[in-house]
Amino acid sequence: MADLKAMKKSNGPACPTCGKAESLDNRPFCSERCREVDLNRWLSGAYAIPAVEKPDPDEQETGEILPLSRN
Ligand SMILES: [Zn+2]
Repeated sequence: MADLKAMKKSNGPACPTCGKAESLDNRPFCSERCREVDLNRWLSGAYAIPAVEKPDPDEQETGEILPLSRN
């Protein structure tokens, strides 16, 4: 069921953090907050590389892999 919803929602550019429609002021994110969240997640991954590699890149969007950061 969730997969069908995801497919229907993916009509246009979506926020990589929460999946909402992107904002023109914060592309490709929907808000400055989501942009910072994604940046922090990227930096966390860069500084603390997980021991286990992701087997499938497609699962990256659905997975909440946050080894260090807690919001
Ligand atoms: Zn967002």
